[in-house]
Amino acid sequence: MKQATQFIHVGIEPDASTGAIMTPIYQTSTYVQEAPDVHKGYDYSRAGNPTRTVLENVCAAIENGKYGLVFSSGVAATDAVIKLFKPGDEIIASNDMYGGTFRLFSKVFEKFGLKFHYVNMSYVANIQNTINSNTKLIWIETPTNPLMNIVDIAATCSLAKQHNIKVCVDNTFASPYLQNPLDLGADIVMHSSTKYLSGHSDVIQGCLSMNDKALYDDLYFIQKSCGAVPGPQDCFLVLRGIKTLHVRMQRHCENGEKIANYLRNHPKVAKVYWPGFEDHPNHAIAKKQMRGFGGMISFELKDESAEELKRMVSSTKIIALAESLGGVESLINHPATMTHASVAKEQRLKNGLKDSLIRLSIGIEDVDDLIEDLKQAIG
Ligand SMILES: *Cc1c(COP(=O)(O)O)cnc(C)c1O
Repeated sequence: MKQATQFIHVGIEPDASTGAIMTPIYQTSTYVQEAPDVHKGYDYSRAGNPTRTVLENVCAAIENGKYGLVFSSGVAATDAVIKLFKPGDEIIASNDMYGGTFRLFSKVFEKFGLKFHYVNMSYVANIQNTINSNTKLIWIETPTNPLMNIVDIAATCSLAKQHNIKVCVDNTFASPYLQNPLDLGADIVMHSSTKYLSGHSDVIQGCLSMNDKALYDDLYFIQKSCGAVPGPQDCFLVLRGIKTLHVRMQRHCENGEKIANYLRNHPKVAKVYWPGFEDHPNHAIAKKQMRGFGGMISFELKDESAEELKRMVSSTKIIALAESLGGVESLINHPATMTHASVAKEQRLKNGLKDSLIRLSIGIEDVDDLIEDLKQAIG
């Protein structure tokens, strides 16, 4: 089945009792049993809910996985993955990734005795040099947030296999439209469904997809035991969002390419970070593992003063100043004070995330209007 058909049909059957083409919202906490523990597969909605089940099957299928699990947020999905491990285990993660993931690792899990190493994953050798006998997981985000670095998923997975290490890929930025990490050897794919999967900035949710039954059983046990499950209304919204993922992503990519090139040629712009440029350090890897380059772009102005930055990001009229990404509407964000404020300044600068960096999530509006908006804001 081709991707466009898959996003609309896979995992979804007409409702068995009514024929409803859209999955009903089963707004219920419990289920009547015929006799103790004799039921139709559901006993309590933390453990399972029919609307959620359909979405979990869809989340598995769109990543070419066998099993899916959905959570009440992207970080709750990440939290479940890290709970597979125990004190003394070590995890290698990127030094450039979503600020909330870094905060969860460093401020929550470190105190439970897990050890995290943050490396520049643009070079697989850096990962290789950090592996030791306690390494249990490699956490990849690619493209990275917000510097748009590219990590070689296939090369990292084959390295991990040699050492019996699991690999989880945060595929939020690329979405399954552009990249399928399970096909490249990853054990788990994680999404903040809040972003491209739902696509309309109206829900907070996360998901995991995988092929291994034992891994699924362990993660399902954590989901049920820790309880970070989304309600059926939110599951419905993500189910609806996924049906248009390919159409939205196609436009995100087209608009992204035009805006990346516009910014790059702007006399007041110093640098543009976008993996579609041929001179991006890992462009060849991006081309190999992605089917397009997406609508996420970061850039720096030549005038690096705090005043100019504040003026510019507050001057766009269509593009809203807000955290988050992946919705139909374009957003502008200042990582140093917004999405990545939880990363210490010294560390941020060391990783190349300057105070002057601006991040754009390019939406699916008319690109000429977006360019006009950036033009008047940059001045
Ligand atoms: C937003 C985001 C997350 C966290 O997801 P929430 O749904 O906000 O909890 C994780 N990774 C990336 C890349 C994100 O953009």
